[in-house]
Amino acid sequence: MKFSWRVLVLWTLPALVIGFFFWQGAFSSSPADLTKNTASTRMTYGRFLEYLDAEQISTVDFYEGGRTAIVQTKDPELDNRLQRVRVDLPINAPELIEKLEEKGVNFAAHPMRNDGAIWGLLGNLIFPILLITGLFFLFRRSSNMPGGPGQAMNFGKSKARFQMEAKTGVKFDDVAGIEEAKEELQEVVTFLKQPERFTAVGARIPKGVLLVGPPGTGKTLLAKAIAGEAGVPFFSISGSEFVEMFVGVGASRVRDLFKKAKDNAPCIIFIDEIDAVGRQRGAGIGGGNDEREQTLNQLLTEMDGFEGNSGIIIIAATNRPDVLDAALLRPGRFDRQVTVDAPDIKGRLEVLRVHARNKKIDESVSLETIARRTPGFTGADLANLLNEAAILTARRRKEAITLLEIDDAVDRVVAGMEGTPLVDSKSKRLIAYHEIGHALVGTLLKDHDPVQKVTLIPRGQAQGLTWFTPSEESGLITRSQLKARITGALGGRAAEDVIFGRDEITTGAGNDLQQVTGMARQMVTRFGMSDLGPLSLESQSGEVFLGRDWMTRSEYSESIAARIDSQVRTIVDECYKSALDIMRNHRSLMDRVVDLLIEKETIDGDEFRQIVSEYAEVPDKPQFAPSL
Ligand code: ADP
Ligand code: ZN
Repeated sequence: MKFSWRVLVLWTLPALVIGFFFWQGAFSSSPADLTKNTASTRMTYGRFLEYLDAEQISTVDFYEGGRTAIVQTKDPELDNRLQRVRVDLPINAPELIEKLEEKGVNFAAHPMRNDGAIWGLLGNLIFPILLITGLFFLFRRSSNMPGGPGQAMNFGKSKARFQMEAKTGVKFDDVAGIEEAKEELQEVVTFLKQPERFTAVGARIPKGVLLVGPPGTGKTLLAKAIAGEAGVPFFSISGSEFVEMFVGVGASRVRDLFKKAKDNAPCIIFIDEIDAVGRQRGAGIGGGNDEREQTLNQLLTEMDGFEGNSGIIIIAATNRPDVLDAALLRPGRFDRQVTVDAPDIKGRLEVLRVHARNKKIDESVSLETIARRTPGFTGADLANLLNEAAILTARRRKEAITLLEIDDAVDRVVAGMEGTPLVDSKSKRLIAYHEIGHALVGTLLKDHDPVQKVTLIPRGQAQGLTWFTPSEESGLITRSQLKARITGALGGRAAEDVIFGRDEITTGAGNDLQQVTGMARQMVTRFGMSDLGPLSLESQSGEVFLGRDWMTRSEYSESIAARIDSQVRTIVDECYKSALDIMRNHRSLMDRVVDLLIEKETIDGDEFRQIVSEYAEVPDKPQFAPSL
């Protein structure tokens, strides 16, 4: 938990109140005890009168407005030694004075002893004063804040959660493979460096730019590069940091951020994951999230609150522009959208070049080959890949990164850490048949990507893996390619089924089946590839979350839903049947490759195809993505 003075104030209040009563108790008794030191014994009024009559009293001092007296007596029982005694006097004893005069006793009246009284007074006042001051400060803070009484118990100005980098040191050269986005944003640098050029001709400088794209594609890097190129400070915060438990904290963070930014203008404000705050208002289940809405409102207010030429440009990143509140996308807010996608093969090559700059790479390694082999990799994946390769190289005490390390690093980035292979056992055989099942379907079906290698070395969650050389991802995918993929994914289960029998099939196919179902469902609901006809029946993302999608979820009736299910089932059944056929027809081939696989642990694609070709006709497939 974070500890701050706000928490202190919060807990001090009850402590103050309790303390007040204790202190009250401690002080209230003190005025009566002031005589304690001077007279430890007491005497009743009646006794005092007797002593007076017996002329045993020499002096009387009145205190407390005449209610007590300290008297000096001679004690006959103690050799008439002088002694001071305290007497409580009845309130109405006017005759006492006369009697004292009559007896010639020396008497005097003393004013109240004041120091005690002052302390008492202070004791009575100090806590209320503290209390009131404390409350005063608290309320003064919150009354500064727009947003009304809902924020009355706002404990505060947030401790800054945003980062500031005075100089990011990142240049456009460090960002590669996303040329279009770079070009669009180049202009933002000019806005920051020479705003006059735009304002002079009456152009309004945009306040906000929304970067849209999957994680790891370099959105943060781009924003930093803008700041770096323009030489301005870079403020960053993540949308999720705004959303806290206490209502109003997010809003106050937004305020702080903009205040700090205004003090440092010109500058860049970068808001990562803006969808965490910027989601459509009022669409959540259960009435939405007040805190998020307040934060969003504050963000909108701040964005409207400064002029376009104040030198602050807000860059926000998201993967889900479709869920953003429309208000955020209005002119004067995030009115520019720039898409940042995973790079294509050319882009990957450039990203690799950037990250290879500071690494020792063997001359035999061509970055182009790496780029070919990594479709779907984002900039972050590629950076990670080269870094892993460098780590492996150092661990193996080599001079420079070779293709071996690159290969291992690719596997690691895609499938996780390598585990230790199983010893030969029934389950190892089963895994081998399962993987060979995938590989065999992949090799025999003309529309399937070619096998790159089959291995029994576990990685991440997987006990064995079959790697395919993927085709370049940007190409269109045909219906028969999709069906081939489904059949291939079912190949593992089909092999278990044919070789070991229905009772012995394992959970190992769980992941495959998930993919199979997903692909088949998309064929039906998104790509119009079933008997239901060319209909799009689902929005792009099937993911349910407590936002907008909930409202726009079902676009079809119950009866269509049932027909979708039956179409999905038909596709999967058909593919499974053809996978089973392949297994049944190539039983002896499978036995042979499985023995080899158990012996060698890994078989590469060419060797595999070579063996298969002795038993069946292997269709020709392009082994690589199209050349650059
Ligand atoms: P995002 O913000 O899109 O999630 P980041 O900008 O945080 O991604 O990327 C993380 C890291 O990945 C960067 O620091 C950089 O090293 C690398 N990276 C990502 N995209 C690129 C790119 N296009 N060019 C160079 N490096 C990149
Ligand atoms: Zn499998």
